[in-house]
Amino acid sequence: MIDRRGWFQRIAGGMLASALRSTRAGAAAVPPPAEGCPLALKDYQPKSMLHSSEQPVPRSRFPVIDVHTHLSFAAEHKNGVPLGEQVRFLTEPENALRLMDRKNIRTMIDLTGGVGAGLESTVQKYQAAHPGRFVVFTEPWWERTNQPGYSRFQADQIERAHRAGAAGLKVLKVLGLYLRENVTTGPLVKVDDPRFDAMWDACGNLKMPVAIHTSDPEAFFLPVDGFNERYEELNAHPDWSFYGRDFPSNLELLEARNRVFARHPRTQFIALHVGGDAENLALVSEWLDRLPNMHVELAARIGELGRQPRASRAFFEKYQDRIMFGTDATPGAVETPQQTFTEKLYEIYYRFLETTDEYFDYAPSPVPPQGRWRIYGLGLAEPILRKVYHENAARLLDLSS
Ligand SMILES: [Zn+2]
Repeated sequence: MIDRRGWFQRIAGGMLASALRSTRAGAAAVPPPAEGCPLALKDYQPKSMLHSSEQPVPRSRFPVIDVHTHLSFAAEHKNGVPLGEQVRFLTEPENALRLMDRKNIRTMIDLTGGVGAGLESTVQKYQAAHPGRFVVFTEPWWERTNQPGYSRFQADQIERAHRAGAAGLKVLKVLGLYLRENVTTGPLVKVDDPRFDAMWDACGNLKMPVAIHTSDPEAFFLPVDGFNERYEELNAHPDWSFYGRDFPSNLELLEARNRVFARHPRTQFIALHVGGDAENLALVSEWLDRLPNMHVELAARIGELGRQPRASRAFFEKYQDRIMFGTDATPGAVETPQQTFTEKLYEIYYRFLETTDEYFDYAPSPVPPQGRWRIYGLGLAEPILRKVYHENAARLLDLSS
């Protein structure tokens, strides 16, 4: 005889459990794996069954200069454009220094140091208080870009920033993707707009390298659909999609940037995020061959480099004098695990560069946050590691190596 009561209790119990699960899934950052079909993509968190050796790297083999970090940011933004002189500090230098000492990081370059009085306070807080451990870059005065005389004003501000201690200029992807003719409205301003020529030249005259982020991953310019390899990331950050509307293609943006590099040969440029197209190392190589004042760094792109380890290794061997170590480390950036300033972040970068470990996570996250794949270590030779970890950056920034 069928025990109908027992059967009903099992069904009801199961429904209750799944209701509890969905409540918890709503609250917790990491939902527990669900059972049955259909399975939501977010609940699919497969664990690799591969048995392969792991070589943890708690400290880098050589001291590190991280050329791409954010310890401060402009306090005010509108439509993606930083405004005003006020800056917000994301960490106390003492806290950062503790992590740096444990991870063998000699120097962190805080790219978003701000402008004017804000820049001066960033320099005081980090660079002047701890010489050699922090280096601060300045930024353009975006809100003045539509005013008469901007070109001259901006060049003067580069000189003022240099006197205040700024070691370089950082240009966010604001240029090309957010800045508009009326600053926050109107048509987009092009990356090679001539109003910035005096700024690029001032940087060259003062030997201040320009760290420039142009465009974004190729998938960010495609429809956010079931064919997009970064669907989950774009779904989590819809404002990172530059598909449609009045956005140029990523190649148009990068070609405009390359025209700037060609027009200002005495200015040194660090094309951030592997030159803006880590998915196409053959193309980045062409640019490096053509533009001797172009350098690159790795920040937030080891996911791309590590899924093509043979091409990446060849790239590092060929351009070993022009690649720098960078992470995009940002204290408190928990929404983007690939750049949260933690010890684990650096351990992953070190493992990627130093070991030949196979198929490991490129970010500390239950699901790979920039596309569902894993990476392979490059096992770079010691002379290349030394250059990438600090020699190339020390030379470009005139720091002791
Ligand atoms: Zn960055």
